[in-house]
Amino acid sequence: MKNQPSKHSAHTSYPGPSRIHLSAFPPKDRWDDWTELDSQAWPHRKERHYQLVPTTCFNCESACGLLAYIDKDTNQIQKFEGNPENPGSRGRNCAKGPATLNQVTDPDRILYPLKRAGKRGEGKWERVSWDQVLDDLASRIRKAIVEDRRQEIMYHVGRPGEDGFTERILAAWGVDGHNSHTNICSSGAREGYQLWMGLDRPSPDHANAKVILLISAHLESGHYFNPHAQRIIDGKAGGAKLIVMDTRLSNTATHADVFIAPYPGSEAAILLSIANYLIQNNLYNREFVRRWWNWEEYLEQRSEIRDQKSEVGDRRSEDDNRDEVSTGSGSDRVGFEEFDRALKQLYAEYTFEFAAHESGVDAKSIEEIARLVSTAGTKLSSHNWRSVTSGVSHGWSVARALFMLNALLGAVATEGGVFPNAWNKFVPKPIHTPPHPKMWGEVNWPQEFPLSMHEMSFLLPHLLKDGRGKLDTYFTRVYNPVWTNPDGFSWIEALTDEKLVGCHAALTPTWSETAYFADYVLPMGLGPERHDIHSYETHDAQWLGFRQPVMRAARQRNGVDVNDTREVNPGEVWEENEFWMELTWRIDRDGSLGIRQFVESKKNPGERLGVDEYYGWIFENSVPGLPERAAAENLTPLDYMRRNGAFEINKKIGALYEQAVPSEELEDVREDTLGRVFTRTAKPASPNVVPVPSPDGDADGRRLVGVNIDGEIKRGFPTPSGKLEFWSRTLADWGWNEYAIPTYIKGHVHPDNLEPDQTILISTFRLPIQIHTRSANAKWLNEIAHTNPLWLHTSHAGRLGVRTGDLVRVETEIGHFVVRAWVTEGIKPGIVACSHHMGRWKVHENGQKQLMATVRLEHQNDRWGLKRETGAGPYESSDKDTLRIWWNDVGVHQNLTFPVHPDPISGMHCWHQAVRVRKADPTDKYGDIHVDTAKSHEVYKKWLDQTRPANRFSPNGERRPYWMLRPLKPAREFYKLPEK
Ligand code: SF4
Repeated sequence: MKNQPSKHSAHTSYPGPSRIHLSAFPPKDRWDDWTELDSQAWPHRKERHYQLVPTTCFNCESACGLLAYIDKDTNQIQKFEGNPENPGSRGRNCAKGPATLNQVTDPDRILYPLKRAGKRGEGKWERVSWDQVLDDLASRIRKAIVEDRRQEIMYHVGRPGEDGFTERILAAWGVDGHNSHTNICSSGAREGYQLWMGLDRPSPDHANAKVILLISAHLESGHYFNPHAQRIIDGKAGGAKLIVMDTRLSNTATHADVFIAPYPGSEAAILLSIANYLIQNNLYNREFVRRWWNWEEYLEQRSEIRDQKSEVGDRRSEDDNRDEVSTGSGSDRVGFEEFDRALKQLYAEYTFEFAAHESGVDAKSIEEIARLVSTAGTKLSSHNWRSVTSGVSHGWSVARALFMLNALLGAVATEGGVFPNAWNKFVPKPIHTPPHPKMWGEVNWPQEFPLSMHEMSFLLPHLLKDGRGKLDTYFTRVYNPVWTNPDGFSWIEALTDEKLVGCHAALTPTWSETAYFADYVLPMGLGPERHDIHSYETHDAQWLGFRQPVMRAARQRNGVDVNDTREVNPGEVWEENEFWMELTWRIDRDGSLGIRQFVESKKNPGERLGVDEYYGWIFENSVPGLPERAAAENLTPLDYMRRNGAFEINKKIGALYEQAVPSEELEDVREDTLGRVFTRTAKPASPNVVPVPSPDGDADGRRLVGVNIDGEIKRGFPTPSGKLEFWSRTLADWGWNEYAIPTYIKGHVHPDNLEPDQTILISTFRLPIQIHTRSANAKWLNEIAHTNPLWLHTSHAGRLGVRTGDLVRVETEIGHFVVRAWVTEGIKPGIVACSHHMGRWKVHENGQKQLMATVRLEHQNDRWGLKRETGAGPYESSDKDTLRIWWNDVGVHQNLTFPVHPDPISGMHCWHQAVRVRKADPTDKYGDIHVDTAKSHEVYKKWLDQTRPANRFSPNGERRPYWMLRPLKPAREFYKLPEK
């Protein structure tokens, strides 16, 4: 071997940010020429020489670092391993990371732009040039903009994998047409967190925790899966106790010190009973609560309500303490003792016995968890993503109840606690920042959901059918709603109706059920074939990751100019950044619409911006510390990122809310009765400040800068009050006063809401080795996991007379599907579960043959059926391994049979289904699906009736609280509701 010990070999650990014992990592100084023996040449010792180029994985939201091994002789990627320079993943990956290679070499890939040749969905395509595609789309979009039909342009994204690039493209066009997948993914949890802390995601410091409390399967499939999983294990190795709540005995549950399987939707009752235990026994952090909860606001509004009641003679006996409560604020004016008494009273009903009754978990186990939580102090890390928050109506209240435990213990932005996500990530300023669009996207943000976290994406077919709008040009991007969303047949109905959708371009690295119904199928790069930057809250730090086309970076490292990623990608596969920049340029070639300037080079005015300049500018101008670090290695910042793939900006961020606001930001300040401090200074002095709520400032135009805590002006939290919001004025003011404090709310599948013969289907659990649409032709992953049987408990199966492998029929509100049973002790008796990622299908030859069944669609009026014709099997291709495919079963597409269930507050699709499960009929076949889309529209209407729309409940004539997050915010004046 020529790999002589490098200058780093004396270290006991790899010297990069991984700081762990991974001595097998090639030292960075040898990434230009790394030598390994060719395993296939054994027993000959044949050397292979590699250039190692970093990028990031695009197979989930974690953006773990990958290192491409590019063979210097063949100029092919030989393998992907972890990038030890990535601070989030620290050189580790899950199975889906290395399997990126399968996706790159997938013999069924889409390699060229395709245009529909027959009817939509007919499966006839012709190859077209990128120029034809760009000119057609650009002229459509330009026409819509010029004719002021900007509401007819929509971009609908599945996995973004980047921080804001495409939102800015839409803003450049002046279009409020961003649509996302978030409402079928995580809006429920986001709502709960945003109500408390103003930011919508938690960043738990698992590695340093004393107690880790997880709701669902975060070790095997959680949000920021691999980066969090390794830190949960670090925490456990350091002695942390792991508590897991999950209806299934997941792989995560098997690692728990305490595992309970509650009735789905009852988690908030359990969490509030733990909160009650802390409160009643004075085990909570009183000083933290006194300083940082908005308890004064709570007491003040309670006092106001009492005043109103007393005016109408409705005084109740609980007014005993009223004299102690003044309507002013400040801890010297309102006694914290009064709040402590109120808290004890408010949560007294949440006993362990009550929680046991709701959850089916015995009270002793809940008490054991409560005792464990009470020992955590400020080192409680907790996480809830998807699972119940995405399963039941008002699931957001579970995330809110979970974070209440952190808020009670003061385990917020502490070592071992939970941070607001934005403090543990870094979003750099881009080269151009277009203004906020001057319009409101009515179809994305309907008035019924003023408090929704993200766009009401999954309602699109129903909103279009209701005549709320139509689309001239519709982009789907790494998004497959026909398969991923509930109610896929309604999507097919909308997508095949040219009056509703004029032109649909599917930007996708792979064939999908949705792409079949598009007008253009445009091949987009995989993780190692495109540029993106991203930063995620993997731990208490801030880092920036750089995804890049590895073949382009390799060539550039070797001194070859590459100006277009298509030059190095397979076929004519492109990258989205260059696509969007070129499309934007063509929409406004002469600059007369004011759009072109946002994709124009600063170095060479009059020319289109390129990706090297775009990222070079960001790395030089917007990332603190990067230029200096690059200079120390004699590199430009762009070259540094091309060589390392990531940069750690800060470590140990700590409690930003306790930062004092510097005096230079305090100009002509005013403090209101709640201690909120407003300033005339336009901008924060430091780039590393807490994001402040954008809202309303004061009447004189000052902006909110901080909050007065015991006489000091602190940064606080980005909420309207500047504090953690136990009581939400937002909920109270927008018609949901009954939920203004953390509360247990019975969900749509609570036993009270089920018929006696119904049970709950959990359809949201992930398999760690597959990822929605994109992994269907990752052969290594498919061999491991390719089917999704219905989990049902032994006792349940006994009642039904069903054994493992038998066919069962699962009946939903709008239809049914037929699947095989898997009888197990590993699920709560009476509940059934069926995993994500399976049941992929195609109606034509084009498609991913390794994990897609060929099916026949049947359609008459509102009735739809899907019949499986053939499953997977061996086939000849450029990859000889496809002849070795031994599996036939690819699972069942259950989501087609689910109607939409929009949560009236968060807008989250509530995935759990009330179903009837029975033995299949003799005529039923595996994978059969039947659906009535008229029924699904009725269910949609029923859920819409539960909302409290802005046009009836808005307290200020606006569509939505301005302080709440939106991926792409319109200009403030467009928040105004239309005149009636
Ligand atoms: S967790 Fe796995 S799939 Fe997700 S980014 Fe990391 S390696 Fe890729």
